[in-house]
Parts: sequence; structure tokens; C-alpha cells
Amino acid sequence: MSEAIGRLRRVVEQSKRIVFFGGAGVSTASGIPDFRGAEGLYRREFEGLTPEMLLSASFFYLHPEVFFRFYRAHMLHPEAKPNTAHRVLCEWEKRDILRGIVTQNIDGLHRRAGNRRVYELHGSVYENYCMDCNAFYGLEKILGSEGIPRCDRCGGVVKPWVVLYGEAPDKYTVMGACREISNCDTLIVAGTSLSVEPAASMLDYFHGKRLVVINDEPTPADARADLVIRGDVAAVMGEIQPASRENGA
Ligand code: NAD
Ligand code: ZN
Repeated sequence: MSEAIGRLRRVVEQSKRIVFFGGAGVSTASGIPDFRGAEGLYRREFEGLTPEMLLSASFFYLHPEVFFRFYRAHMLHPEAKPNTAHRVLCEWEKRDILRGIVTQNIDGLHRRAGNRRVYELHGSVYENYCMDCNAFYGLEKILGSEGIPRCDRCGGVVKPWVVLYGEAPDKYTVMGACREISNCDTLIVAGTSLSVEPAASMLDYFHGKRLVVINDEPTPADARADLVIRGDVAAVMGEIQPASRENGA
């Protein structure tokens, strides 16, 4: 492990344009469960339904009350704080060696850590819009309401800006993310099972020098990676950036 950490540290030192491509495993150290990991939500059922069913667009339109019950109970973690991985990435952006973060996470933790160039492929729980008049609402609208959240202006249903199964991600976000991936010299893929499209195929845009994978189980990208580190994302990021370790987990 320590040899791999040393190699990753050298990769970071030699890189000028890093892109970090992350998934739910980046936030498990902040107390937010992933989907497919050992403790993931996909290992459980909710009222006889799987998370895939509950988080599909068709389910949202057919059974919005049940959707919001699940969503409030399991997808919202307002108490979660950025962990070492988020903080190290913020430092890299300040040092101008990080071009951007492409994330499948909807928890908003990269922005809360201070990163600005964040491509949220699947949206963010902090953005919610009225389906009728498009009025914007923050997370407090969902947390502070019961049942189906309604627009103060027109009474329409307020829908989280979260890409549900069966919906397409925002094309400008995808285009921006692909541009960053195709222009970076090092791509670090971390905490993702790479089983959700189009996110997984976006790695094909990478033509840089070094592809690094940090994940606690094998991923489809391992075979083409220059460096694979099997371990905890927050711990690994803390190891290569010792100065950030004193800030906690
Ligand atoms: P996933 O659950 O499919 O995969 C997570 C991967 O990370 C797994 O391989 C797991 O073994 C690994 N992992 C978990 N904790 C880790 C850790 N501490 N260190 C190293 N590896 C770790 O998640 P995904 O690939 O991001 O994909 C799926 C979907 O999950 C996305 O659509 C995303 O929107 C959604 N999701 C987001 C959040 C969040 O916002 N935090 C949480 C759960 C699910
Ligand atoms: Zn409205």
C-alpha cells in the first residue's frame, strides 16, 4: 500500500491538470451510504421496493408521496460534512493543479468544501425547482415540508434537481465534464463502481498520461489504469496530502 501511495504522490507532483472523477464512495467517510458497496442501500429493501424502483422517474410521477418518503429518509444528509478527500481536492484547486471534479454524487459536499469547478452529473439535493413555474428552492424546502413539497407561488410540485433512473443528465454538464476529461493530464477515478451510464463511458474521453483508480473493490477501469489503489478514498487522499490530515476524517 505505501509503495502505491508513494507512486500516487509522484503522479500528483508531476501533474498540471488533474481531473477527479468520483462517486458515492467519496462520501461514505462523511456518513452517507453508497448504493453498491458492502454497506450500500442496494442491499436493502424499503416497503418491499428496491432503491432502483424508488428512484426512477416513472415511480416519481406515479407515487410521489412514497418517493418523497424514501428520499427524505435515505437520500438527504444535511448533517454530513466534507471529509479529507473533499478538503484535499479543494486545496488542489487552490494550488491550480486540479482542473475540475466530475461527480456522480448529489450530496453537494465538493461545493461545500469550497471547490468551484464541479460537474454534478446527477444534480444536487441543494437545488429544487417547481415543475410548473420553475421557481427555485433550496434543500430547506424539502426538509421543512411534509409529503409532496409544493411551490409557494403556484402550488406546483417541487422536484429535486436529481437525475432519476430513466432521465437524461443535463447535456451542458456532461459536455463540460467530457471537455475537462479530454484535456486533463491525470484522471483520478475514485469511489465509484462505474456501473451507471453515461458516467462510466465518459472515461473514454481521457487521452492523458496517467489514469489512477482508488476504490475498495475492483472496477471496470482497473484493466486500463496505470495505477490501481485498493483502499479507502479519504484515507488515501489524506496520505498523499499529509498537511490536510490534522483536519479530521
Ligand atoms: P456505487 O454505490 O455504485 O459505487 C460505490 C463504489 O465505491 C463501490 O465500488 C464501493 O465498493 C466503493 N466504496 C465505497 N466506499 C468507499 C471508500 N470509503 N473508499 C473506497 N471505495 C469505496 O456508487 P456510484 O458509482 O457513485 O454510482 C451510483 C449512483 O449513486 C450515482 O447515480 C449517485 O448519484 C448515487 N449516489 C450518490 C450518493 C451521494 O451523493 N453521496 C450516495 C449514494 C448513491
Ligand atoms: Zn411554482
